[in-house]
Amino acid sequence: MRPARTHVLVAVDEESRLAGVDQVLLALQQALDQYGLREEVKVIETGTLGVSGQGVVVAIYPDGVFYGRVQPADVREIVEEHLLKGRPVARLRLPTAAPVARPAEILGRQTRVVLRRVGVIDPENIEEYIAQGGYEALAKVLLEMRPEEVIEEVRRSGLRGRGGAGFPTGVKWAAVRNAPGPEKYVICNADEGEPGTFKDRLILEGDPHRILEAMAIAGYAVGAQRGIIYVRGEYALSIRRLEQALNQARAYGLLGDNILESGFSFDIEVRPGAGAYVCGEETALIESLEGKRGWPRIRPPYPVTHGLWGKPTVVNNVETLANIPDIILRGAAWFRSLGTPTCPGTKVYTILGHVRFPGLVEVEMGTPLRSLIYELGGGVRDGRPLKAVLIGGAAGAFLTPADLDVRLDFDSLAGRAAVLGSGAVLVMDDTTCIVYMLGGILRFFRHESCGQCVPCRAGTDLLVRLWERIRQGQASPETLKRMVEIAEVMRQASLCPLGQSLSLPVRSALEKFPEEFLAHAAGAPCPSCQKGGA
Ligand code: SF4
Repeated sequence: MRPARTHVLVAVDEESRLAGVDQVLLALQQALDQYGLREEVKVIETGTLGVSGQGVVVAIYPDGVFYGRVQPADVREIVEEHLLKGRPVARLRLPTAAPVARPAEILGRQTRVVLRRVGVIDPENIEEYIAQGGYEALAKVLLEMRPEEVIEEVRRSGLRGRGGAGFPTGVKWAAVRNAPGPEKYVICNADEGEPGTFKDRLILEGDPHRILEAMAIAGYAVGAQRGIIYVRGEYALSIRRLEQALNQARAYGLLGDNILESGFSFDIEVRPGAGAYVCGEETALIESLEGKRGWPRIRPPYPVTHGLWGKPTVVNNVETLANIPDIILRGAAWFRSLGTPTCPGTKVYTILGHVRFPGLVEVEMGTPLRSLIYELGGGVRDGRPLKAVLIGGAAGAFLTPADLDVRLDFDSLAGRAAVLGSGAVLVMDDTTCIVYMLGGILRFFRHESCGQCVPCRAGTDLLVRLWERIRQGQASPETLKRMVEIAEVMRQASLCPLGQSLSLPVRSALEKFPEEFLAHAAGAPCPSCQKGGA
């Protein structure tokens, strides 16, 4: 078999499916047949290519040319001009201008660990995963390491949970291993429900075996035989690819009984969630898995000792687990060579909003916010001024251009009363009205509050009603103070992070953009709304 001279990578993810990627693929295969290019050109259906908001995205290698918004009718031109004559189709190429010359360059500026295979391999083919070093880490721990050594390696790596809290993963695993009892569980929290956050979906869609391998390693380390992936129900493609990956791994003897004849048995099931944001909180997730209403539990006790069915349980986020195989293979010292001393490794972000290149990126912990927006995001679109950045998702904090040099890691952001949270970085230009932005967040939290505890149940409703008064021009400066007080009470008295975290967007919005809130409160013209915001 001769190697192909050209690889055409087609991103098949939820976004491109909605944009008609199946029809583009069909047209591509027909055109390759027509021109007799099947042998020379290899088409790979891969995960995201890191570009969002551009419909069907196609990358052609070795040229490194990215096309966006590709329609079936465009395919013939790509084949005739680019694949046959070597002339890229200018009208379909993704934007090219300083400071980023082309999307392929964005990839080069990243440090890809978790995303190393995303947008590179066919995620539906276990052999491509294995060919790129997949399941080597699992083989290593089963054949060469004791469970305690695995935990020690993870602990020494300094890996901290990427779900938002930043808790040391090795410490969590050790607590489960040391908890008494033979029955233990590993849960992958893939219930990514925050608006604007979809990094875990893209990891699952692009490299599902990585998560299965990591869960099996976690199971071996803590002494569990069963794993569960609790995945957001709307993530249909993730669920399909995970199920497919599970069947392949079982067929290859990489899951199930006596894996690689090591004596270790472990299997995983996929459980779709039912659409409650609060079920991303680990104890609500566990309640849901037990068939109950998704209400957070009072802690302590913690899941590491009293988790699923009251048994010791590891709950790790998708991105956290995705780091494990590389830590095992390359070692804790390598992992610590990335990022900062207190936050080693990399972080995956979704860059959204008013940037030129919205999408998925992975950079070292401690990368400045400025670099994320202006180098990887390509800067603010249409050359407009940057007004604000909502970092960490809807439960994150608003930052301003004065914060651009903050380093993105757990500790540096804490110094600015902000969090890494879900990894969403929402960029807003000067046409954005922060009053309306905050209104959307407040309504989301009121809708998603599970209602179990009074501070959150009553607080979210009260905040929306006060916000409505501001919007209608029937409020005073006292209303703003009252909102901050309510959010603070919620932070101190709510049962779970959903209610506790709302103080971040409320306080930061009101403190950093008081003039907009005061203008709306008094029924006066808002500077941003006049520029086309709202
Ligand atoms: Fe439910 Fe909100 Fe209380 Fe959490 S803080 S338990 S979501 S009411």
